[in-house]
Amino acid sequence: MMFPEIFLLSLGTVGKEVLEWLKVPLRERFGGVPVILPSSPLPKQALNLERNQYNSRVILNWLNLRGYPSPLLSLVDKDLYSPGLNFCFGEAELGGKRAVISLARLHPGYYSRPPDTQLLRERTLKEAIHELGHLFGLQHCPDQFCVMHFSHTLCDTDRKASLFCDRCQRKLEASVQKGN
Ligand SMILES: [Zn+2]
Ligand SMILES: [Zn+2]
Repeated sequence: MMFPEIFLLSLGTVGKEVLEWLKVPLRERFGGVPVILPSSPLPKQALNLERNQYNSRVILNWLNLRGYPSPLLSLVDKDLYSPGLNFCFGEAELGGKRAVISLARLHPGYYSRPPDTQLLRERTLKEAIHELGHLFGLQHCPDQFCVMHFSHTLCDTDRKASLFCDRCQRKLEASVQKGN
């Protein structure tokens, strides 16, 4: 399986070491070598002051307007919401070009737990692969151990693996062969 490059973008203060770390496992899953773009501040218009959260749809629209290369995964460390949801771990345009994930609720510290870099990275990787899966046309999977299973809570994220189930893996490969 050979994918085109995947582009990684820090919006705000997500450290470059997080993106560097993601490169190896993303390459293993998707084939292409991830390219890290110069970071950018978060678009101010995405901030909802009443909720103190950023609207992921506004971020995705902004990324499109800015003409970033694709497929693009952007990472933020602010809390995200999507209209109709209290919060979201991330959002992607299904079969589209650009996605965003938030690390805010992946930090053990968010739940008053001690810092755990390895756990944070595992969670970040799962959310990254999940949203990239959407960009390659995959929908949510009923298999609770598949990376494409929807995470209602962090327990769901921690339960699932960072791998695609056989069914999703086959769909992914079919999508790549079509040149999606
Ligand atoms: Zn999803
Ligand atoms: Zn699956």
